[in-house]
Amino acid sequence: MGINVALDGPSGAGKSTIAKRIAAKLGYVYVDTGALYRSIALYMVSEGIPADDSEKVVPALPSVKVELEYREGSQHVILNGEDVSDKIRTPEISMAASKVSAIPEVRTFLFDLQRDIAARNDIIMDGRDIGTVVLPDADVKIFLTATPEERANRRFKELQEKGDPSTYEEVLKDIIQRDYNDTHRETAPLKKAEDAVEVDSTSMTLDEVVEHISAIIEEKAAKKKRPAEKVKKERKPLLDFSDVEPVKRGKKLNPIRMFFYNILRYLVIFGFKIAYNLKYEGKENVPKDGSNIFASNHRGYVDPVFISLACRVPNTFMAKEELFHANKFFVWIIKKFGAFPVERGKGDMQAINTSFEKLNSGRNLVIFPEGTRSHDGKVGRGKTGVALIAAVAQCPVIPVGINYEGEKLKFRKKVVIRFGKPISPEQLKVTTPGPKELKLLRATIMDAIVDLVH
Ligand code: C5P
Repeated sequence: MGINVALDGPSGAGKSTIAKRIAAKLGYVYVDTGALYRSIALYMVSEGIPADDSEKVVPALPSVKVELEYREGSQHVILNGEDVSDKIRTPEISMAASKVSAIPEVRTFLFDLQRDIAARNDIIMDGRDIGTVVLPDADVKIFLTATPEERANRRFKELQEKGDPSTYEEVLKDIIQRDYNDTHRETAPLKKAEDAVEVDSTSMTLDEVVEHISAIIEEKAAKKKRPAEKVKKERKPLLDFSDVEPVKRGKKLNPIRMFFYNILRYLVIFGFKIAYNLKYEGKENVPKDGSNIFASNHRGYVDPVFISLACRVPNTFMAKEELFHANKFFVWIIKKFGAFPVERGKGDMQAINTSFEKLNSGRNLVIFPEGTRSHDGKVGRGKTGVALIAAVAQCPVIPVGINYEGEKLKFRKKVVIRFGKPISPEQLKVTTPGPKELKLLRATIMDAIVDLVH
């Protein structure tokens, strides 16, 4: 919803001229609600229906279609398909409008139209009941007045310019009569809203009134827009996880598959113990159940196997997408062992969703936050993905350090795999994936990995 300015006041106070100028100055849409009442009056007059005869006016309303159109910044009133913007500006129609507007059904008839326009735009709407009835929550309410004599004087000059033969006395009489009608009708009478700012324009020039009211509007509009801008400036999360539930831990995997998986695991352990001088430290930190995240430094292609040999529950791995373009047999094997692709550095939503699915299924997830293998054994700067998944899934992260000397894994080489204490997002009070929270979680995880690499 934009800024809504309600400008009310008696006839001839200069509302429309002032509202038009302010709208052009501030880039708002000017809505002249008097024109709506005037077009209903025009319809009734042209149909020979007395404007104050509600018994005849009300049944005729369904035949009236009033629309407002905006062309080159000015409002056009369309009555049953005809542009009547000029026809409604005669003293006869002014008086008839004042009469039809006292009929409650006429007011109800125009209510939605006025509200709809206000809801869609930054508007300045002028009328009699805008601040009190149509837009009681308007951001700015102005009640513009001037003495009846001054108003009659201005209206008289206007009419003279148009070649209208009315005398000053007639115009003043009309104004006094319309003031009476507007303030004495039962429905939505003209009155100042309690929270409206009253501006008496009797001894002010047009420019002064425009300046004065614009300043009031700008001050209030700035106050309203400021918090919105602040929200805009706050770093928006790249991806929206508002509808992702934390992982429900404790899901049991199929016991038969687990049985065969563990036989295979022991066989591989046997083979690996022959191939390497394999040592595990901190195995007590490896949970016996699933839905955990292992975040490890990355030395080589065998890393996932080193980690998995210590876990009773089968693991899944986030593996760089390029690996899935390698030869078919290799791709088949890595998929069998739970690898799924991630496009690095792109906030790959599919990979993140797959991670949640795997964790929810009760499997563990292995991530190498550095994103690439380290050739010199030093731990690089970790990416935020691991922290993001942990924060959203609310799963513990077990830091892992894989250590061996030199770049290549040779036969009987000493390999030490260290597991650190689980890092719980909850304990770190990371319950949302906000930028600050992710920074803290990522730093905690990476520091823990660095501690395990020596
Ligand atoms: O503002 P304007 O003089 O064009 O309005 C014509 C008539 O419509 C007014 O005399 C007033 O009685 C009626 N009116 C109203 N409520 C509004 C706007 C105009 O009753 N919001």
